Amino acid sequence: METFKKNSVLVYEEVKAVKFFLWTFYIILVPYDFVYYYLVPYFNKQEVGLPLGGLGFFFHIFLFALIPLAIYLVKKGQPEKIKYIYFIAFVMLDVVNNVMIYWGTKEQFGTGHVLEIYFILFSPIFVSSRFFWTMSIGFFVKYSITGLIFQSGAVLVPMGLIIFIAAIAWILLNRFQSYVKAITSIFEDLRQKEKLAVIGQMATAIAHEIKNPLSSLKGFTQLQQEKDKGDEQYYPIMLNEIDRINAIVNDLLILGKPNTGVKTPKKLIDIIQYVISVIDPHAHRREIQIKYQVDDSTVLLCDENQMKQVFINLIKNAMEAMPNGGTVSVQSKIDGSLASISVTDEGCGIPPEILAKLGEPFYTTKQNGNGLGLMVTKKIIEEHEGTFNIESQLEKGTCVTIQLPINA
Ligand code: ADP
Ligand code: MG
Repeated sequence: METFKKNSVLVYEEVKAVKFFLWTFYIILVPYDFVYYYLVPYFNKQEVGLPLGGLGFFFHIFLFALIPLAIYLVKKGQPEKIKYIYFIAFVMLDVVNNVMIYWGTKEQFGTGHVLEIYFILFSPIFVSSRFFWTMSIGFFVKYSITGLIFQSGAVLVPMGLIIFIAAIAWILLNRFQSYVKAITSIFEDLRQKEKLAVIGQMATAIAHEIKNPLSSLKGFTQLQQEKDKGDEQYYPIMLNEIDRINAIVNDLLILGKPNTGVKTPKKLIDIIQYVISVIDPHAHRREIQIKYQVDDSTVLLCDENQMKQVFINLIKNAMEAMPNGGTVSVQSKIDGSLASISVTDEGCGIPPEILAKLGEPFYTTKQNGNGLGLMVTKKIIEEHEGTFNIESQLEKGTCVTIQLPINA
C-alpha cells in the first residue's frame, strides 16, 4: 500500500483490511488466552490462570484500549498506521509482561503468542512488503533479544516457526503483488488502447475538416506566386510549410481510419525505387547515401500508397538520425512465405528508455518531429499482417526490420 499515492479507493481498501485485521485480532486474542491459560491447564490438572507477577488482565485491557485510537485514525484517513501501532503495542506489552514474570526467576519462560504468527500472515492481506519485513524482522529480533536476556534456548522454537510462517506469507504476498501488477498492466493497456481509439476518431474528424481548406490555400498560394514573379523568397517556404501540414494531416488520417484501402499485388522493388527517387535529392544535400539491395521478384499484396508511406517514414527517420551524413541501406530477403525488409542507418541509435516509448502517439525527440511516423508505420504494417521490429545500438545505428507476407 505504501508505495502507492494516497487515493480514496486505496484508503477504502486499507480500511477494509484493517477492519478485518482488528476483528480477527480480538477474536483470536481472547479465546486463545482463555484456552491457553485456563482450559488446557484445567484438563491437565495444572494451575489455572494468567501467570502471576505479570501484567495479567492489563495486557488485554491495554490492547482493547487501542480501539478508540484505531477508530480515530480511520476517521483521519490514516488507516495504514493502525497495523504498525498494534504491532508496537503488542511487542512492548509482551516484552514488559515477560520481563515482569520471568526476570530474576529460574522459571522456564513460555513460548510465543499465536498473534505473532497472525501478524506475519496478515502482510499478504495488507499487500504490503514493508509490513511483512517489519513483522518478520521485528519478531525475529524480539526473540533473539529475549533469548539473550533470559539465556534461554526455548526461543529457538518460536524463531523457527516465525521463519516458516514468514516463508509462507512471503509466497502469498508475492503472488498477490504479481497478480495486482498483472491486473494493473492489463488496465494500463486498455487505457492506452482507448486513448488511441479516441485520438483516432478525433484525428480523422479534424483531418477531414482541415484537408479542403488546406488544398485551396495551397492552390491560391501557387497562383499568387505566379503573379508575384519577382518575389522568390517567401513563397517556397509557404508552400513547403503547407506541404508539411498536409503530411501531418495524412498521418492522422491513416491513424484514424479503421481499415486500409484496396490491396493489389505490387513489386517491392518498384515501391523502394520510387521512395528513394523522392528522397534522394534531400539525402544528397545532407551528404547521405541511400543504398538498396532488393530482390526484384518479391511481390507484396498491399496498398501501394501506404507501403510507400512506410518506407518514407523509415528512411526519413534513418536520415534524421545522421546529422553528419552517412549511409542508409535498405535490404530485403525472403524468409519462407515472408519478405523481411530492413532499413539500417549509422546514426545516433535509440536509448533503451526511449525504445520503450516508441509507438506512443506524439512521442518525439525531435524539434520538428510530430511523433506519428512510427505509429503510422506500425499501423500500416499490422494492417498488412506483418510485424515490425527495431534494434538499436547507441552511437552505432538502428535497424528497423519489417516482415510482410509475400504474394505468391
Ligand atoms: P518523429 O520522426 O516525428 O520524431 P517518429 O514516430 O518517426 O516521430 O519517431 C519517434 C522517435 O523515435 C524519434 O523522435 C526518434 O527519437 C526515434 N527514432 C525513430 N527512428 C530512429 C532512428 N532510425 N534512429 C534513432 N532514433 C530514431
Ligand atoms: Mg519520423
